[in-house]
Amino acid sequence: MIVDYHMHLRNGREEIALATWTVDPFVSAARAAGVDEIGFTEHIYYFKQARALLDHPYQTERCVYEIEPYVAAVVEARRRGLPVKLGLEVDYVPGREDETREILAPYPWDYLLGSVHFIDGLGVDGQEPRMLDVLGVEESWRLYFETLGAAARSGLFDSLSHPDLVKIFGESPASFDYGPIVAAIAESGVAVEVSTAGLRKPVRELYPHPEFLAACHDAGVPATLASDAHSPDVVGRDFDQALELLRSVGYETVTVFEQRRGRQEPLG
Ligand SMILES: [Zn+2]
Ligand SMILES: [Zn+2]
Repeated sequence: MIVDYHMHLRNGREEIALATWTVDPFVSAARAAGVDEIGFTEHIYYFKQARALLDHPYQTERCVYEIEPYVAAVVEARRRGLPVKLGLEVDYVPGREDETREILAPYPWDYLLGSVHFIDGLGVDGQEPRMLDVLGVEESWRLYFETLGAAARSGLFDSLSHPDLVKIFGESPASFDYGPIVAAIAESGVAVEVSTAGLRKPVRELYPHPEFLAACHDAGVPATLASDAHSPDVVGRDFDQALELLRSVGYETVTVFEQRRGRQEPLG
């Protein structure tokens, strides 16, 4: 089984297009790439329902769509028998867990991704002000993983997206202890995503780092596969490298989600 559990429902020109026809090119691309099942995970910050959670202009400027057409587009595709799952990429906002839960409650998610793109108004992956510029590398890493651990423990999420996103620009401390974050993830029962998106960023590495993923495997943390595609041609991109990484640290299964329950299927 090969899944691609992180992509954004766009019309092929990176524009939001929340109609069921926009699902089909992603399904065709998945078939061509040898991917058995895909999951859509649009950013929560595109939807008006999340407005109260957001404070960074990058997010509030985008927060103009209703969530129902997105949910309906994917649910309709699922009803047509297409191998698609309904997800959402949700920004973790510390202290706002109850509101986040309420916003998400009405919809039939197969899984929810937890992401940390902003911390206290600072951008982790490039939005100004960049956390790395303001806090430096060591403190950015410490704060990022502290926040990711809280995201894991919040119980809001089924899987953590691009789990070491803070390395995106290739800046990292001389050494880093993944022990605490792996413990938080393992105790909370969330999965980690192996994402090929990092290969297309300045760091030019998969997320997460092999040492991080190996510790996740040894702690019994389940894994998923992800391209973070914003257009159909990226679905399943570089999955040979993601599979190689997963196998190299010992993974033999991948997580398949349905109605927020995960099960393990043989990988590949
Ligand atoms: Zn993301
Ligand atoms: Zn994404």
